[in-house]
Amino acid sequence: MLTLHQDDVLLACHAEDWRGALEQAAEALHRAGLTSPGYREGLFAREAQSSTYLGNAIAIPHGTPQSREHVQDTGVRVLQFPAGVDWHDGQRVHVLVAIAARSDEHLDILRQLTHVLDDDSVAERLAAAGSGNEIAALLSKAVVDARLDGDTLCLGFPARDARELALAGAARLRQLGCVGDGFIAAIAEHAPLHLGQGLWLASSGSSVEVPALALATPEHPLKQADETVNGLFCLAAHGEAHRGLLECILRLLERGSAGELQGADAATILARLAGESATAHTRLARVLNAHGLHARPAKQLVQVARSQAVPIRVRLAEGGVDAVSASSLTKVINLGARRGQQLAFSAEGDGAVAALDAVCQAVADGLGEQVLPFDESRERIIPQADAAPAEPLPDDTPHAGVAASPGLAISPVFVLQTPRFDYPERAADPGAETQRLEQAIRQGAVQLETLVQQARGGEVAQILSMHEEMLCDPELYQAAHEGISEGRSAEAAWWDAIETAAHAQEMLADRLLAERAADLRDVGRRVLGILCDVTLPAPPTTPYILVTDDIGPSDVARLDTSLVRGLLTARGGATAHSAILARALGIPAVVGAGARVLTLADGTELILDGERGRITPTPSAERRQAAEQRLAERQQREAAAWDTRFEEARTRCGHRVEVAANLGNTIHAADAVERGAEGVGLLRTEFLFMAHAQEPDLATQIDEYREALDALDGRPLVARTLDVGGDKPLPYWPMPKEDNPFLGLRGIRLMLTRPEVLETQLRALLLAAAPVPGKPRPLRIMLPMIKDIAEFRAARAIFDRLLEEIPEAERASDVQLGIMIEVPSAALLAPALAAEVDFFSVGTNDLTQYTLAIDRDHPELSAQADGLHPAVLRLIEMTVTAAHAHGKWVGVCGELASDPMAVPVLVGLGVDELSVSARQVPLVKARLREFDLEKARTQAGLALAQATSTAVRDALEVR
Ligand code: PEP
Ligand code: MG
Repeated sequence: MLTLHQDDVLLACHAEDWRGALEQAAEALHRAGLTSPGYREGLFAREAQSSTYLGNAIAIPHGTPQSREHVQDTGVRVLQFPAGVDWHDGQRVHVLVAIAARSDEHLDILRQLTHVLDDDSVAERLAAAGSGNEIAALLSKAVVDARLDGDTLCLGFPARDARELALAGAARLRQLGCVGDGFIAAIAEHAPLHLGQGLWLASSGSSVEVPALALATPEHPLKQADETVNGLFCLAAHGEAHRGLLECILRLLERGSAGELQGADAATILARLAGESATAHTRLARVLNAHGLHARPAKQLVQVARSQAVPIRVRLAEGGVDAVSASSLTKVINLGARRGQQLAFSAEGDGAVAALDAVCQAVADGLGEQVLPFDESRERIIPQADAAPAEPLPDDTPHAGVAASPGLAISPVFVLQTPRFDYPERAADPGAETQRLEQAIRQGAVQLETLVQQARGGEVAQILSMHEEMLCDPELYQAAHEGISEGRSAEAAWWDAIETAAHAQEMLADRLLAERAADLRDVGRRVLGILCDVTLPAPPTTPYILVTDDIGPSDVARLDTSLVRGLLTARGGATAHSAILARALGIPAVVGAGARVLTLADGTELILDGERGRITPTPSAERRQAAEQRLAERQQREAAAWDTRFEEARTRCGHRVEVAANLGNTIHAADAVERGAEGVGLLRTEFLFMAHAQEPDLATQIDEYREALDALDGRPLVARTLDVGGDKPLPYWPMPKEDNPFLGLRGIRLMLTRPEVLETQLRALLLAAAPVPGKPRPLRIMLPMIKDIAEFRAARAIFDRLLEEIPEAERASDVQLGIMIEVPSAALLAPALAAEVDFFSVGTNDLTQYTLAIDRDHPELSAQADGLHPAVLRLIEMTVTAAHAHGKWVGVCGELASDPMAVPVLVGLGVDELSVSARQVPLVKARLREFDLEKARTQAGLALAQATSTAVRDALEVR
């Protein structure tokens, strides 16, 4: 969205003629750093093609497509000529809006200006304006696109009454991102209103992001309070912006044509709502112009429409609230039609068919521009810029996001805008394009290799190596190569291949694989950047907090950790690779904080709290001081914790609580020991399985587990058996898609359907832990997602058989078999389970998800999935009581174990071991030394007595 600022306006300019005015415009764009001097010629060439006079004394000079290479940044400069200038087409101009645009962004600028053209008095006011602010205000008007299109229609919904239809409509709007949860709640609260003719309305302005209108029709005709229910409109109201949507409904009622909606298809319904009568003729025509329906082609279209015998109306076929007169230049520009979008023309009366044929032919011929056919299977329609501009964040007010990586940062922000890649769709010489692509791929591989070297092992290096593999994937190359042979440019063919592959991953409806799609696009952008010679804007050379829409894993890996103090993203969840990497690099991060964070101006001071998932822009002096103090204390605590990391973990009174590390990869075991871990409390073995193209065989598994045991040098290893399925399938185990993967075939449930895999894994673990002379190798094996004793016994039977089968000298001697407590039923049945298992380890991530019924990765709700909820704590208490009654030990290996507020509560509940990410080990050990057991028990009692997790946190904070 273009935002005009007073500095963009040059007041009181004077020119002898239009050439002089255009020279001044070129100079102004250049001085503003938007263009290089070569753009001047483009401006003159464009005027030579046809005038850029728009109407109401405004001209909009801009360069030709060929001159785009001289655009350095997209922007405008407004020049006011109070005395006026005669333009070369005979018009008198008072204001020049000189545009520098790399692509079709100027369509949005034009759309913003169309409101000025509707108002005749604006010309005079622009000429007389005495300040830049005044001109900026006259020209700026946010374009808010209300949504009413094929996606907002829910036709034939199996509802039993109007209320259910209302909720179906509201849910659809929420799915489309137009509204939030507050809207659904508001719609549920009020009974829908009967409008007449079987139509009903439910509306609210609560938590509306984008004004929108959904229409839900019932599967079968319904009656409610003796009235028919043919359809229900669900309206997301937003300021004045939804007015057009209301008019659609009114038009329908006034015409008495509500009945025509029954059984009609989406296209017909949209036509009726747009005001087209049932007797009108309609034709569709696709916009082929590379940069959409901008001023010049729009002018041509209007001229053709005006020359017809009957009035013609036009709208965007897939939505668009209103059909507008095709004879109105401002209205046609205001459609903002992009290349590939379809226009629906309609006309009535004698000559309607001929008129429609004429305009459609003109559109097909390119409206005065050279056009290429649109290939639906290959080209994407570039969506319009975000409709509703996000409101800026208020100063000194905390704003919530998802806590993704702990730590506190206070720094100015640097807002990284996603780069825009501009490239031709087609190219004449496939040989040259293939060479360019191959060279770019090679260069990309070199870049990645350098990054891998810099990352020196660890998770960052692993992900970057995976990117290298993706980059060299022969199938990807082949797909791109085919595109090039069909006449596409290297960029277009490459991006198409990337998109197709990424889309295929996403279709698997699986989170981990969806993240792979993000990785693929990340790899794709790297090559595209090389091909288009686009480099990211240079970040500051002083410390900063990086703000982005979403960030690719390799972008995180590229971050200069000596300068990046924190990471803030508008989108994304805590489990995305980027968040995992931020944790691995120790960068505090808040993710999924919403589009408003992108409104922060570069350099805005920000407090980012990665522990609480909160940010505060432009803090007051007091708030900043308090945060600085917390930061200094934290740094001191970290340094002190590091110095004492090898001391045994004990509370102040000497009560022993083991602190172990969670690992995803056995090669990190040595690093965990170096950080003071007293063992590995959770080895997520699924990562070993995911790292291989096929199920790793016995020997491979033995080698891997042995690596960890060697590094642990006598410390215990708690290895979890394979926890995949449902939400994280293995590529080599195709499984049917499930509606609720978290409630599906995963963890032990899946393993019991493949007992041979479980057996091989148990065998490998037992063999890897065979005693080495003089070195104990304590092995603890735990089973994930156990819901009751039957599942445990089924797995135990295999385990017991192996113990019998393998000679004692060849297998682990110090071995225990336990279960994870992740499903509430297992906690409730802990007394029975405790009699048979050797230990429990509480997986608070899943236990919280299943207890509170909140998807742990839900972008909006996951912040509420707090393990300090009293319901979760009660389940932990039950687990510990049952275990201790049978002399068994209990660990906690979910994220809660490293939450400083939760540590005393868990210890107070009697937990014997805390397993946390390796980086957290020194801090958790230090935290234990801050309190004694008595205090811990008080804290636990206090927490258990609360009603909500917020109340628990408040109560603990006060103490
Ligand atoms: C848990 O659920 O808390 C846990 C540790 O397992 P994961 O996060 O791997 O599901
Ligand atoms: Mg789990």
